[in-house]
Amino acid sequence: MKVAVLVGGFGGARFLLGVKHALGMPPVGEPEQPSPHEVTAVVNVGDDAWMHGLRVCPDLDTCMYTLGGGIDSDKGWGRTEETWSVSTELAAYGAEPSWFGLGDRDIATHLVRSRMLRAGYPLSAITEALCDRWRPGVRLLPVTDDRVETHVAIEDPQGQGPRAVHFQEWWVRHRAEPKAQTIVPVGADEAQLAPGVAEALEQADVVLVAPSNPVVSIGTLLAVPGFDTALHAATAPVVGLSPIIGGRPLRGMADACLSAIGVESTAEAVGRHYGARATGGILDAWLVHRGDNVDVPGVAVRQVPLLMSDVEATAEMVRVAFEIAGLPAPEGAR
Ligand code: GDP
Ligand code: CA
Repeated sequence: MKVAVLVGGFGGARFLLGVKHALGMPPVGEPEQPSPHEVTAVVNVGDDAWMHGLRVCPDLDTCMYTLGGGIDSDKGWGRTEETWSVSTELAAYGAEPSWFGLGDRDIATHLVRSRMLRAGYPLSAITEALCDRWRPGVRLLPVTDDRVETHVAIEDPQGQGPRAVHFQEWWVRHRAEPKAQTIVPVGADEAQLAPGVAEALEQADVVLVAPSNPVVSIGTLLAVPGFDTALHAATAPVVGLSPIIGGRPLRGMADACLSAIGVESTAEAVGRHYGARATGGILDAWLVHRGDNVDVPGVAVRQVPLLMSDVEATAEMVRVAFEIAGLPAPEGAR
């Protein structure tokens, strides 16, 4: 079976653990025996930024570290058993940005990536090289090799009028508190899909939209020209899972992103925002949490427990997604 999954960072990475488990692959690391299944994750790059001269790709790294067993699972980002000597030294120089946490171990990843970028390698090839170490067991593909960065227009916290900041500055430094007026994936218009993205969507037996941030994770993928054409050309059903449960995001501040684009923080509003594939949207089916009574015209809605409390619970929602997509229970799975 070929499975394509659209993902951001935390929600996407947790979801991928469940996808692997549902396919009978070990959630972390590579299967010992070659698996008959192939999972390709198309990953958001809108959070990426240059920090201290290093290219940081938070969503790719969260997926890579989570699936490779190197994530700090309490924080949901960065490396296990991290130390902070470099950040402490940078702070002693007054080097900005001081509000963005970069651990010593994590910095090694960014050093390798930045060096390869400067040598002319595309991000997709660099990610593949980094994954040689982490062996995530799924193919991690940045949606594009081009520079696309999400910027947010906010009222200046010092009262200096409106200004645009990088998504990370709004999200991490200001905890998404200044209200976002607009959220723009800068560079998306001129970007091209990374090699393999269109093929992964077109050849998939099912396309899953992870319960990731609909605006700054999934929205950024959709903003890259050619992405929705490829999604429409896909013969496989597209099944989405709601990141909003009972009118709230589970973690993070997705509601602040949704309100910037005028979408309510409900599973119904997000489902309608994605829309039915038959009418130009992206979904054939939409999984929402038990008790969320949702109607999305043209989309098959199913209530299932959507709390990714552990890998088995997550695998169970993936199995329902496979079933709705009309796929047989995967070979190799329990
Ligand atoms: P980020 O890039 O690290 O922000 O991660 P993503 O965009 O991939 O995922 C963030 C989203 O995951 C948030 O909007 C949360 O609501 C959602 N999320 C986190 N945990 C869960 C969960 O257990 N179940 C569901 N359905 N959504 C979750
Ligand atoms: Ca992210």
